[in-house]
Amino acid sequence: MKNILPTPLQYKKNKLTFDGLFLDKIAKVRPTPFYLYSKKSLDFYYKSFTSNALKHKIPSPLICYAVKANSNSEVLKRLKTLGSGADVVSVGELKKALKAGIDPQKIVFSGVAKTENEILFALNCGKRGIYSFNVESIEELELINAVAKKEKRIARVAFRLNPQVNAKTHKHISTGNKTHKFGLLKADILEAMSVKEFWGNTTLVGLSVHIGSQLTDMKATISAIRELCILALEIETPLEFLDVGGGLGIDYTQDDRSKLASIETYMKAVSESLEKYYFSKNNHVPRIVFEPGRILVGKMGVLVSRVVRTKTSDNAHFTIIDAGMNDLIRPALYEAYHEVLPETKSKKLIKTDIVGPICETADCFGTQRSMPLLQSGDLVVIDNAGAYGHTMASRYNEREIAAEYFI
Ligand SMILES: *Cc1c(COP(=O)(O)O)cnc(C)c1O
Repeated sequence: MKNILPTPLQYKKNKLTFDGLFLDKIAKVRPTPFYLYSKKSLDFYYKSFTSNALKHKIPSPLICYAVKANSNSEVLKRLKTLGSGADVVSVGELKKALKAGIDPQKIVFSGVAKTENEILFALNCGKRGIYSFNVESIEELELINAVAKKEKRIARVAFRLNPQVNAKTHKHISTGNKTHKFGLLKADILEAMSVKEFWGNTTLVGLSVHIGSQLTDMKATISAIRELCILALEIETPLEFLDVGGGLGIDYTQDDRSKLASIETYMKAVSESLEKYYFSKNNHVPRIVFEPGRILVGKMGVLVSRVVRTKTSDNAHFTIIDAGMNDLIRPALYEAYHEVLPETKSKKLIKTDIVGPICETADCFGTQRSMPLLQSGDLVVIDNAGAYGHTMASRYNEREIAAEYFI
């Protein structure tokens, strides 16, 4: 099945447009490189996610957007307006989510290294603190309990289960196996349940699972949900929610398009597995929490850059652009593929390596790409850069952090 997800980019008379606006116009008044995001696209993906959840009869779905994918304040504010909650992994992200107006009771806190100060802040924000600490170790549970005791509060916690499934994705973005640092094994969760001292100032409200990112195949997702449900049935306490995590992929390449599960296919898989492994065996209906990141923001954003110069050495041809791995690290970090599009289309194409200005060989956006012979000042666009782009930017080589514009 072909699965081409819509993007804001489109050629009109061989000139690239973004949400219908000519890109050369947008770039005329903005120094490159910069990120460009489309509100229309963000709305489309959020609404498509929620409407598919409702269509597949997911009980009171709560979308906790994974802030690490893109933490731009305008993006967060828009998501808040659309009704989204947040999945945060640091107090910095938590503060940004709160600043955007997101209700603390729609915020879950994930991550293996929550510190005492972070727990303190999360416990005391809003009237009742955050919706849930998604606990990743027994040591963390003990600390949360101790902090809550000092504050005379009850912390709402969920266990993040390590379901021991192997998600077929790049090794750096797979998280659900025994060798990964994330989550707790089932036996350890059940043991922790029976230790009274852990539960003086904590209450178990849910269970969560998240097995990795850029997932295309639904098999691992279904196995993870099965493990989550089996554990939920074993735990006597009625749970307020089951959190199925995030991870749904987008199409970066042609190959992705043939493999990718659509939002619809994903929701159907989630709904059917919940029905089969939980609802059919139990009268209790917890709400379902989702933690999507990439699928909501990946396609809405591009990185706009200009050619600095071209260079040939022997047979190799390089197109050197002013965006680098410090602006978008995914190709260097995960061998990720990003389409690079010329602003002006041409029939005459050459093979060229598209590289950035950073003093690292890994600073390369693509090798042997078919591109027009570009010149200094020509615009190019790196597609599908809305997720894990700007949030991973650094100042390496003393470069400025690229600006972001939300159209
Ligand atoms: C990163 C992360 C997500 C989001 O992953 P995507 O692939 O962007 O959907 C969700 N939950 C947790 C715990 C994460 O760490």
